[in-house]
Amino acid sequence: MNKKQKKVLIRILVAAALMILLVFMPIEGYVRLALFMIPYLIIGYDILKKAVKGILNRQVMDENFLMAVATIGAIVLGEYTEGVGVMLFYQIGELFQSYAVGKSRKNISELMDIRPDYANIEKDGTLEKVDPDEVEIGTIIVVQPGEKIPIDGIIIEGKTTLNTSALTGESLPKDAQAGDAVISGCINMTGVLKIQTTKEFGESTVSKILDLVENSSSKKSKSENFISKFARYYTPAVCYSALALAILPPLVKMILFGLTPGWSEWGDWIYRALTFLVISCPCALVISVPLSFFAGIGGASNVGVLVKGSNYLETLSQVKYVVFDKTGTLTKGTFEVSGVHHNVMEEEALLEYAALAESSSSHPISKSLRKAYGKAIDRDRVTEVEEISGNGVTAKVDGKEVAVGNAKLMKQLGISYKECHQVGTIVHVAIEGVYAGHILISDVLKPHAKEAIQKLKKAGVKNVVMLTGDADSVAKQVAGTLGIDQVYSELLPADKVAKVEELLATKGAKEKLAFVGDGINDAPVLSRADIGIAMGALGSDAAIEAADVVLMDDDPLKIVKAIRIAKKCLRIVHENIYFAIGIKVICLILGALGMAEMWLAIFADVGVMVIAVLNAIRALFVKNL
Ligand code: ADP
Ligand code: MG
Repeated sequence: MNKKQKKVLIRILVAAALMILLVFMPIEGYVRLALFMIPYLIIGYDILKKAVKGILNRQVMDENFLMAVATIGAIVLGEYTEGVGVMLFYQIGELFQSYAVGKSRKNISELMDIRPDYANIEKDGTLEKVDPDEVEIGTIIVVQPGEKIPIDGIIIEGKTTLNTSALTGESLPKDAQAGDAVISGCINMTGVLKIQTTKEFGESTVSKILDLVENSSSKKSKSENFISKFARYYTPAVCYSALALAILPPLVKMILFGLTPGWSEWGDWIYRALTFLVISCPCALVISVPLSFFAGIGGASNVGVLVKGSNYLETLSQVKYVVFDKTGTLTKGTFEVSGVHHNVMEEEALLEYAALAESSSSHPISKSLRKAYGKAIDRDRVTEVEEISGNGVTAKVDGKEVAVGNAKLMKQLGISYKECHQVGTIVHVAIEGVYAGHILISDVLKPHAKEAIQKLKKAGVKNVVMLTGDADSVAKQVAGTLGIDQVYSELLPADKVAKVEELLATKGAKEKLAFVGDGINDAPVLSRADIGIAMGALGSDAAIEAADVVLMDDDPLKIVKAIRIAKKCLRIVHENIYFAIGIKVICLILGALGMAEMWLAIFADVGVMVIAVLNAIRALFVKNL
């Protein structure tokens, strides 16, 4: 509890004690009123002040106003205990609410404990701690065991094991050594590292993730918009109903039956109207719905699922179609060379040309070719690189024109090529417009891919689709093994967009379509789908930018997890909406019929709010979903 909350608690205790004392004191008349004003003002002075301010600012219909009118009304009617009691309960509710919200905010920032406080820079043999924001690109920083890596960079000295659990939610240690790129937010576990930074702090992974989580609450879900609209109409509606309730029944009696109602009868109706006002404050809804989303997003980021807004969480919970990209999403994207065929030169030389031509591509195929080649790449030998998305690359290597890619690329360039009869991804190579042979490479499925697809179906997904730029034979084989419903192969990135649009047109309006990719050459599809999910975001800025939901590691099971988290969160939101509105309606009816006292009304209101807030906080716990 913070200072402000403690102060409120003390006021509550003092006012409650005084009130109880006064209830049992046999004093009557104005002295009694005067004595009751003491606990009333102790507990309510700030509410009264806010109500007056509201009136002066012409923003009358807020909770403070309602509480002030209801309690002053009760006191005027001689119901002193009611007046103080209602204020008391209202404050208890407010206190609880601010405590719960503060607590869950703290929870989330603790969960997301990735913000580095400092970076170490070596100066004259000693380490100096500096603000990460002040470190320029290319600076060498030192990270000691147990410390967080503050800024993205490349290890230039040292060897260690990294813990990425703060980012991915998974505590798989990862080995890293000189030459490896490392990202901020990981914890250095064993060795001392010297890292040359490649980005500024503001552009580093940690900052990007924190920005994303912090800004997520500005993207409102439909439920939240519904609630704020609801509150806008509901409060005035109840106020006018209350006014009508106070005046109309006695008036009707007077006009229709010619009976003049006595003071006590007027008092009775006014009391009912005041009860109505007390019930009318919609606190439970206004607080609990955004809090549920906030908790849901926070819990998700704790397990390595970053959701960029409540609206996306809502969409995610309605996903019925999941469309996967193949390479790097369902398969590992680390191809092994399993053969070099029809080569006109030494295998080694062919691989060298291929690896050099691919030297600046970030496609999984090109990375694998460079790895298979194994030697350092002299970029000076490569010029005029052009990547043809979904086809391959062309470049000049040692001044010779080299084309590396699939059959489509060869056709485009008018080069006749040899088919391969083995299943696998085929990388054709042509040098100076002459076919030079092909490299057969094969990818492996991710270990959890099959399980993930089964679980998606269990989680209510109707249709699992795979899109790929790869050859039909490979696509069919992968889809068969994994149990995928529909496959489309040999697609260019633009064809993928068209396919997704086709699928979007066939599904129902309430059914949402998610596209899952790795962010490499599929950004247009990610943004076209109802919801774009990028996986393996550790280290890929493109993926973080393009997607609505970002999975920090590349485990396909995380997709199932993301959907389950979203469903749980939305279930909680709906529970709260129905529960709170239900109880309100019952209370309003009872109040209008004169069957609920003001006491009961405030008690019900605070009770509903406490339950709704506690329920909302459940959305934070998603670890074992
Ligand atoms: P996927 O849809 O499976 O993710 P892509 O659209 O990334 O595949 O690529 C489709 C095909 O295009 C690959 O199977 C490969 O044949 C070819 N290709 C794309 N980029 C490259 C590259 N850099 N080098 C060689 N071939 C490539
Ligand atoms: Mg791809």
